[in-house]
Amino acid sequence: MPKYQLTCDCGAVIPVGVAQAGASMTCPGCGKSIDVPGTKQLRMLPLVPDQATTATKVSGLEPTGLGAILARALAALLLIATCWGFSYGGYLAYLRYNAPIEFGHTEDEFYSDLRQRALEDPPARAWDHWQYIVETGVPDHNPPPYFVISKVFENQKPWMVGALTCGVVSLLGFIGVTMLSKRSARA
Ligand SMILES: [Zn+2]
Repeated sequence: MPKYQLTCDCGAVIPVGVAQAGASMTCPGCGKSIDVPGTKQLRMLPLVPDQATTATKVSGLEPTGLGAILARALAALLLIATCWGFSYGGYLAYLRYNAPIEFGHTEDEFYSDLRQRALEDPPARAWDHWQYIVETGVPDHNPPPYFVISKVFENQKPWMVGALTCGVVSLLGFIGVTMLSKRSARA
């Protein structure tokens, strides 16, 4: 049976059926007694939406709702970012920690070690070195390959740290989004 929306002076909306036309009832909002209008006037009032229809509409909308789709898309993106962050960052970290490089060792230290060793050479050996330079010319002082490799790893370091951070943040975000969407689905 259709129900009509009777609005009380206090603003409360009371659903009333045709059977209650002409009767008086107590408002659940303010407790005052209100008169339900006659059948003719009652039919002019807005209808209370059918509760069964509304319920199915709401539950039918929920899994395919825009919010749910966005949450799922966001979760998928975060999962992809997690996989990328951990795999790329992990790969770079693996290369770095398996590299035969001592990362604290700078080029300056390398050359000052060399100079120190040259100063400690006995005079006879210094003479030999001098003769060698006279014959072959001053050797090129390009950085040895060790430092070229070391520099490559140093340049990669922000990428490694960034990728691993991205992995951790995305994983936390994924867990957060999944928990939130589960909670809203339950509510
Ligand atoms: Zn009222």
